Amino acid sequence: MAEGLAAVRSALMRKNLNVDANEWRNSVALTGHVSSWEQYMEAGYAAAGKGYEAVVNDLTVEGVVPFKPSMPEPQNPIDPDTYFDAVVIGGGVIGSAIARELTRWDITVALLEKENDLAMQTSSRNDGMVHPPFAVTPGSKKAHYNQRGNKMFAQTARELGVSLEWPGMLMLFSNPWQRAFLPAIWQRIKQNEVCGVEFWNRQRVFKMEPNITADQHGGVFLPDSGIVSPYQLTVAFGENAVQNGATVLLNTVVTGFQMEHNRITHVCTNRGLIQAGVVINAAGVWSDVVAGYANDRFFTIHGRKGTAAILDRKVGHTQRTILSQPRFASHSHTKGGGLVPTIDGNLLLGPTAVEVPEREDYSTNASALEFVFDHHLKLNKSLKRSDIITYFSGVRACTFEEDFVIKTSDYVANLVHAAGIQSPGLASSPAIAQDVALLAVKALAAVAGRAIQPNAAFDPCRKAPPDLRGMSLEERAALIRRNPSYGRIICRCECISEGEILNTIHSLVPVQSLDGIKRRARAGMGRCQGGFCTPLLLEIMAREQQINIAEICKSGGHSEIALQPTKNAAVDCASEGAGSAALALSAANNSRRQEDYNAG
Ligand SMILES: Cc1cc2nc3c(=O)[nH]c(=O)nc-3n(C[C@H](O)[C@H](O)[C@H](O)COP(=O)(O)OP(=O)(O)OC[C@H]3O[C@@H](n4cnc5c(N)ncnc54)[C@H](O)[C@@H]3O)c2cc1C
Repeated sequence: MAEGLAAVRSALMRKNLNVDANEWRNSVALTGHVSSWEQYMEAGYAAAGKGYEAVVNDLTVEGVVPFKPSMPEPQNPIDPDTYFDAVVIGGGVIGSAIARELTRWDITVALLEKENDLAMQTSSRNDGMVHPPFAVTPGSKKAHYNQRGNKMFAQTARELGVSLEWPGMLMLFSNPWQRAFLPAIWQRIKQNEVCGVEFWNRQRVFKMEPNITADQHGGVFLPDSGIVSPYQLTVAFGENAVQNGATVLLNTVVTGFQMEHNRITHVCTNRGLIQAGVVINAAGVWSDVVAGYANDRFFTIHGRKGTAAILDRKVGHTQRTILSQPRFASHSHTKGGGLVPTIDGNLLLGPTAVEVPEREDYSTNASALEFVFDHHLKLNKSLKRSDIITYFSGVRACTFEEDFVIKTSDYVANLVHAAGIQSPGLASSPAIAQDVALLAVKALAAVAGRAIQPNAAFDPCRKAPPDLRGMSLEERAALIRRNPSYGRIICRCECISEGEILNTIHSLVPVQSLDGIKRRARAGMGRCQGGFCTPLLLEIMAREQQINIAEICKSGGHSEIALQPTKNAAVDCASEGAGSAALALSAANNSRRQEDYNAG
């Protein structure tokens, strides 16, 4: 290790960074003060890859106040005797998939999520691509899990009743000289065992995509590129976990651990203590902070923000495949983004990749949008800026090693990490969940001193609500005859019925906010972004959940939508009956709605 330390120190010196480096367990820890976030990042990367497992970057940065996770409003306390064999921290796609895998075993499982719904952070703020294992570094954990996860997706989506399509990805050469990279591309395809890849000449590319701009010089087609709704997938994992006995605790923030020797005994939360057999850290951008609660912070997460724009569904038909351009720069940490068809028929433009100190910074700005317009909009000549209906940002949870952290802790017997799950985390999720659940069950068996038996009653198939968009007119008519609520259209833009909204409210993981309905049923996702359906959705929520309309939030916290009754109408629809409320909607919430298409 001493050699590694010398290498780290000289790399830091070469960059003129006045930073101290010391060994900490199997990692290298950086301390000191730097003048900018760029220097913080430079130091982290300079220390990576020098023989240590990971970099712990503890540098303080001029003008950057360490950020804390957002917290929910005070919640009901949890019964102090509560015990779960397995406690999963983080209800993103990774934690939800792990919770489902754990229910294959005869154990009690809890999924703890600090926000008011599943998929509120990175898992709802991404491109929804099931990447082929092309852009990942050969031999990395990312490559391993991307490859396995991609292969598992078809079966997983079938079991969960989640729509999945395989439009394939066309990596376009916008200059003739880019073809010189073909040998390197073929080598990568071989190393990562990417299946069915073909080189397409200009004619074939135009035959498949007649709307692409003229200055294209052929491209590489990767058929194993899929698309899925990331939040519907996450919720489906969560619902199937609940169906198999798991408990989902929303608005529940893990704030620390109680330890005995090298073991976590209790998980401390904003709602009290939970006794735990084994703990799984799937806390996304906060996973290093959660590891730190058990004195096991051997890696550092830094946020890499991605901004993307969504185009109107009316231009969705202008493209069949995912269009992208290859990234050849060795320092590039993005797959490059592109023009991606979504499973719901929109096109998605982006994302960018910008290092940010704030891990929950979901703001969008003009320069990020200019970047995606300049780089990607031009690929399809039938698109205009005015086709954009909204935009959003997400933050990737990256380590300086640029790889996933998937392992049982070396120092805490009952802690398993599923951390640093940046892209392609969604594509890798089924495979990550499989391995992490096995690690957790092994750790649980060891600390509990008992064999863990499979759950004979486990059912991998989610009881999914009817998917009206996949139905013929006859099937729809038959469904409406059985249940007329499927015939009452609430969201005109997306043609979403009351029945579909009721399914989200009465789901196994019920929605708690307007954005929850939007993510799950698509009501409010269309061109008008909820302008017409919001009052109707509020009335339905109030009626079904027996609450006052003024209590309903757009997205948790204090994001109440209705301010006061107008025209003498009653705000309390639960008691007055739906349909009567004339509402004063919060202007702040209306403008925010424009910004965040995906998660709010
Ligand atoms: C712009 C963008 C585009 C992307 N596109 C793709 C793509 O096309 N394909 C792909 O495969 N991947 C993509 N990714 C990556 C993918 O989104 C992530 O890999 C994946 O969502 C990570 O899931 P996660 O569950 O680890 O994290 P998250 O979804 O962030 O979940 C972690 C959860 O933990 C919760 N949490 C944190 N701390 C606590 C605590 N103390 N207590 C309780 N709960 C806590 C958080 O609230 C959060 O919900 C993209 C990412 C971005 C940003």
